Amino acid sequence: MYTKVAVPINASTVPGVLEQVGLGLASGAGVLEWRSDYLEGLTAELADQVIRQIQGKMGSKAELLVTCRDAREGGAKAVKLAARVAVLTRAAACGARYIDIEYVNYQKSQVKGAIDQALKEASQCRLILSAHDFDSPFEDIRALYKAMQRINPKAIAKMVFTPYHINDCFEAFDVLHTAHSDVIVLCMGQAGQMSRILAPKLGGFLTFASLDKAHSTAPGQMTVQEYRDLYRPESMTADTELFGVIADPVGHSMSPAIHNACFAKLGMNKRYLPLLVSDDFTGLTAFLDNLCARPWMHARGFSVTLPHKHNALDYTRARKGHIEPLAETIGAANTLILDPVTSRPSAYNTDYAGALDAICQGLKIDRAGLAGKRVAVAGAGGVSRAIVAGLTDAGASVCIYNRTVERGQHLAEAFGCDYAGLDALDGMAADLLVNGTSVGMSPDVETMPVPEASLHANMAVFDTVYNPLETRLLRVARARGCPVVDGLAMFVGQAMAQFKLFTGQAGDPDLMREVVITQLRGR
Ligand code: NAP
Repeated sequence: MYTKVAVPINASTVPGVLEQVGLGLASGAGVLEWRSDYLEGLTAELADQVIRQIQGKMGSKAELLVTCRDAREGGAKAVKLAARVAVLTRAAACGARYIDIEYVNYQKSQVKGAIDQALKEASQCRLILSAHDFDSPFEDIRALYKAMQRINPKAIAKMVFTPYHINDCFEAFDVLHTAHSDVIVLCMGQAGQMSRILAPKLGGFLTFASLDKAHSTAPGQMTVQEYRDLYRPESMTADTELFGVIADPVGHSMSPAIHNACFAKLGMNKRYLPLLVSDDFTGLTAFLDNLCARPWMHARGFSVTLPHKHNALDYTRARKGHIEPLAETIGAANTLILDPVTSRPSAYNTDYAGALDAICQGLKIDRAGLAGKRVAVAGAGGVSRAIVAGLTDAGASVCIYNRTVERGQHLAEAFGCDYAGLDALDGMAADLLVNGTSVGMSPDVETMPVPEASLHANMAVFDTVYNPLETRLLRVARARGCPVVDGLAMFVGQAMAQFKLFTGQAGDPDLMREVVITQLRGR
């Protein structure tokens, strides 16, 4: 069964409704949901006229779903139940393909009687029975589904709730996976976004996407263009493989854009999702175990970032998986791969590899060429740690300069390096300067971690900051004749290494770079 993408039409005036219908058709949506509760002065007679105009515009290009939502379940305003039922029965008589009424109201005998009679007289029309909880998961979603089926076996059950945690979505996925009838289960908010994106894989009857951000009708609803461009719902199948970035927060991540662009270019039946996993180690463990317990989710690999880079190692150890030696030394993994048969995890760190590849490409040397190079690393945070591990592993001679000297000392001692305060950078003697601090990052774009005078033409400069693409440090260094390497090269390098781990194939670095630049411009 093919999952339809429904676009809500939620204007308050008739011309507004018709304009949105035009935009909805242009977006290629399979279903337009007219949310009649948004229309000012709504009556059954007005609904009749509007539906006829909508249908005149739509022809057979899309199907019409008419909803007049109860304010207690997210409706735009309070409309009396009898008036809402009159709108829906009129919609069925006017040729709507679907009408949607709340399960709680359908249980009332006079409502059920009127709706059932209207459906009997309009054989083209199907009923969607819906239940919404904007605050929490349903107490027992399976029981709710069964009750909906019992009251009307022909109806499409629609259950929408807000998960507290991404792990609350799995019960919903189980309902979808085991349902023997048409069903819609969606989880709201960032933690539930997976349910919206994966509806075609999991067999949901409908998923919803908005015309644009301003016309979203539920938390977490993406725009139809974003959904189409990023996630290719039309070609998703039950065996689509699942990848993603595990983080908290995750909304800002550019990784879904770059990995999905490469999957699409190579025609791979894989999708990469933003996955908001909170609650630290317990949350991460439950999430991965939930996926592994459901082989039909086809979970294959993940990027891992804050706050889970260390947790990913602990999880891999706990499940007796494989840890790349340098990831162990760094104390952080940014990539997890799950074996497709055993679900056994493997943990890697591609940050160091991305940084070393960026440096080597920029300086036109191979990794062996790093041996003996004098490198000044500004910073002692997570990124600097990965870079210092990679550089020392390659035989470079590293000195760490950090604002908080003890933190720099700690890192230096772990990898046998020298250390000093950030102010000592002024007199450094180095072949390569690496900025691993956040200094120079947007919005503080005029700051730089070293005095201008300390840069000289014999020194290469690598800035890990990639927003902006050309930091002040790189601008000044370039003007002084230094070879420069930007942070985007590292970002693309670590993503390329992940893509190889995910798929066994090479990604497209030019496409990845282009995608990140487009994303940065949109911010
Ligand atoms: P982190 O663990 O929070 O470390 C931040 C580092 O920046 C610390 O060394 C900190 O010094 C230093 N710092 C912060 N503000 C400073 C200031 N005003 N003056 C001097 N030093 C300052 O962060 P991280 O994860 O290592 O990330 C650092 C940067 O790397 C990010 O801002 C980002 O731009 C970049 N990054 C790049 C990539 C890529 O792929 N290119 C990926 C991730 C991150 P203290 O120890 O004294 O606090």
